[in-house]
Amino acid sequence: MESSKYKTMDKFKFPMMDLHVHRSENLTIEDIVAKSQQLNMKIGVMENIAPWGITNDAQLKEYINAIKPYPVYIGLQPMSPGWSKNLSSELIAQADYIAMDPQIVTKGNGYGETIMLWEYDAYIDDPDEFMKRNMQHYMDILTGSEPLDVFACPLFLPCCIQRKYDILWTKKRLQQIVDAARSRDIAIEINDTAHVPHEDFILMAKKAGLKFVFGSDSRNHTVGRLDYCKRIAQRCNLTEEDFFIPKRYRS
Ligand SMILES: [Zn+2]
Repeated sequence: MESSKYKTMDKFKFPMMDLHVHRSENLTIEDIVAKSQQLNMKIGVMENIAPWGITNDAQLKEYINAIKPYPVYIGLQPMSPGWSKNLSSELIAQADYIAMDPQIVTKGNGYGETIMLWEYDAYIDDPDEFMKRNMQHYMDILTGSEPLDVFACPLFLPCCIQRKYDILWTKKRLQQIVDAARSRDIAIEINDTAHVPHEDFILMAKKAGLKFVFGSDSRNHTVGRLDYCKRIAQRCNLTEEDFFIPKRYRS
């Protein structure tokens, strides 16, 4: 039996959903549906549009058809700007929402390398130069013309510079991100696994009228725990009206 002290908190004022769940060897779609019922929580399944995930219409169609029969949301998670070029817009429109994170930064260091932010050995030679490039990447995603509903895993930094989080994420940068998201009504994911974003950013986004979603970013038994999400949402006093809810739900 799972337990967490946060489970015993008062009733939440926000809709309990986990919109960032990946299928894996350890987590089938049947496992996800069982978890959704057990937790009485709506779940959004995500699939990456990336070299290791969906790369063409046939695969996109196969994914949508595989998930459609189940009572979950169908999410798409492209990894790089330009993702929609080779996919049919009719098929893309069959997804219930599209979420994108800024975790793959091309030319992310002085060696011209592509940085996968989540990897332990992500190599950052100059934190300030990285942040300039990182902000450009954020803006490419947020101000682009491809469909986007949710900005996932915002503000996550590679582990070599994580301890400088509060220095590197200046108020000016945070506001630039909020303004860009606001201009296209893109919701902000609160990522349970990475514990991002932090309170100051959530409050700035809330003030600007942005919506939020909870996402565990899980592919195993941690689906739907959402301990960080619940804690920070309570602290920021988020309520139902602060949340993005996908339009369709299959039940
Ligand atoms: Zn993901």
